[in-house]
Amino acid sequence: MGDKPASAIKKIEATGLMRKLMGAYFQEIDQAARTGDRKIAWCTSVGPAELLRSFGFLVYFPENHGAVLGSSRLAQELIPAANARGYSPDICSYLTSDVGSYIKQQTPLIQAFGMAGIPKADVLVYNTNQCRDVQDWFAFYQREWNVPLIGIDTQRGLGDITRDHLDGLIAQHKALIPTLEEVSGRTFDLDRLKEVVASSYRCTLLWKKVLHLAAHVPSPITFFDSTIHMGPAVVLRGTPEAEQYYAVLIAELEQRIADGVAAVDGERHRYYWEGMPVWGKLRDHAEMFASEGACVTASTYCNSWIFEPLGCDDPFEGMARSYTELFIVRSEDFKEQYLKTMFKTYGIDGMIYHDAKTCPNNSNCRYGMPQRLNRETGVPYVTINGDLNDLRLYSEEQARTQFEALGEQLREGA
Ligand code: SF4
Repeated sequence: MGDKPASAIKKIEATGLMRKLMGAYFQEIDQAARTGDRKIAWCTSVGPAELLRSFGFLVYFPENHGAVLGSSRLAQELIPAANARGYSPDICSYLTSDVGSYIKQQTPLIQAFGMAGIPKADVLVYNTNQCRDVQDWFAFYQREWNVPLIGIDTQRGLGDITRDHLDGLIAQHKALIPTLEEVSGRTFDLDRLKEVVASSYRCTLLWKKVLHLAAHVPSPITFFDSTIHMGPAVVLRGTPEAEQYYAVLIAELEQRIADGVAAVDGERHRYYWEGMPVWGKLRDHAEMFASEGACVTASTYCNSWIFEPLGCDDPFEGMARSYTELFIVRSEDFKEQYLKTMFKTYGIDGMIYHDAKTCPNNSNCRYGMPQRLNRETGVPYVTINGDLNDLRLYSEEQARTQFEALGEQLREGA
């Protein structure tokens, strides 16, 4: 047997600190779930986390758990259990993985963090800005646990965002307060909300800076790194720990730039990843691109946790705007303009669309966008068919052929 080839992936030293932080986050929630000493709110990943934290809730994000199930490839064993309960194999595979995990009482959180299992919610809070699946997902648990299910309904496909949109969303955020007061046993505190929103805003600026460092040539970080390091920006936004973490990560990446260290040695091509990661293939993809000298420098996915309007004076306006100005909520025209700007900012020379079978919401290649953008920018593209969690929908061979085709197009055009 030959030696295993050396990995082309460069380790980010801050990863150890991030794992510690994430471990502490999960253990705190587990402690609350076991003892009932703190209330737990479940929140969708771009839901009103700041409002929940202002009431003292520990905030748990099941989409993060979905990604953990995908990365560990346990999703494959769990999805059929949800299908058997009537949750179709065609709907969000985060949902089916997570519901399957609950039904089978299997989760990597038990081994990784010593948790008892999925932590029971005291209240379930969604925002349909990303999709309707999140509401149906939380409704499953509402029926299981008989706890309040509340949320915000956001219009989709928006071009301009009007005052009427914002006023409606602000009113919906405020309408959550009575239930949150009742479940938490605390009175709403505007000053506390302002503090949490301010912290979340600082976190957002730091996360933006992390991603923007990838505009440097060569890039000190890849999309595959960012999908891991975005953890604190998702689950710990609004806490000092998240801010402290990104200061450490930024220092390391700036040092890489100062030392001329690239995330991908001999960076030849700079790609944009549009759509969800294929979680169970993340490492394989990172290895494959790095060994070809291709750096996936930017993505819609990782940039979707930049919430700059949180800097507004009014925290409700900040939350309403942040959670509706998102890429996923917007019209095709808006998305195209956004992507063109990203191509310029990050010096993109190739585009990869991931058509994720169970997430049409994050698959932007179904209505002619690749062709239109290619005509307007000349940036070549390929599309891979796959899925975020359900690897039965992913073909290694097709993906590899597509990735190689993109490299060939670029070499021919050079
Ligand atoms: S946006 Fe996609 S991946 Fe996220 S919850 Fe909705 S369907 Fe699932």
